Amino acid sequence: MIVLKTNRELALMREACRISAGALKAAGEAVQPGVTTAEIDRIAYEYIKKQGANPNFLHLYDFPATACISINDEVIHGIPSKKRVIKEGDIVSIDLGAELEGYNGDNAATFAAGKISPEAQRLCDVTRESLYEGISKAIAGGRLGDIGWAVQNYCEQRGYGVVRSFTGHGIGRKVHEDPSVPNYGTPGRGVRLLPGMTIAIEPMINQGVPGVKTMSDGWTVKTADGKLSAHFEHTIAITSNGPVILTEL
Ligand code: MG
Repeated sequence: MIVLKTNRELALMREACRISAGALKAAGEAVQPGVTTAEIDRIAYEYIKKQGANPNFLHLYDFPATACISINDEVIHGIPSKKRVIKEGDIVSIDLGAELEGYNGDNAATFAAGKISPEAQRLCDVTRESLYEGISKAIAGGRLGDIGWAVQNYCEQRGYGVVRSFTGHGIGRKVHEDPSVPNYGTPGRGVRLLPGMTIAIEPMINQGVPGVKTMSDGWTVKTADGKLSAHFEHTIAITSNGPVILTEL
């Protein structure tokens, strides 16, 4: 069931989303060669707590941390660890969210550790751009497939693989609500987009094939071919005045 939010609820979500965005920025600024992913996670946790909010990934489906931190060929759901040291040239995807007064925000971005290869930079750029392509189609009266197609078309035209096994999602009182928001689709098909819908759009884009595999830790998802992957996400609201990015500072 898709829950439409009132203006009052959207105002509450905006606060949770602002904190999510601030935490992502703080975590991203800490990405450097020599830093552990546990340290990045601690920075995100403390930022969210200091704002009076709660890290909403922590214990969600038993996930053990504030942030999912996924490096290079890791697509999503990497578990922060004191043993995992970021290296020069790594691309580091951080996905996290905050809950405030019963409402949730969720956002992600891929950050460069030191100097990265032109190929890695291009993957990150195209993935971020594809998120904005998708957001531009989050228009009341349109269809969910418009969003997925915009992301898919933008990335596939540039030779990249669009992950299909994981999707974006509705968000509100729960981190994950209906509908699923795939990064692929057919224009004009799928759920009708209505004012008051709040969704997380989150392209996960691979340098190579779209296929992924889950590691033995039960969480970490990697590319099937070992090539790089990037991930960008915003929580947005569909309004009668167009899409509003809630997780923008
Ligand atoms: Mg999400």
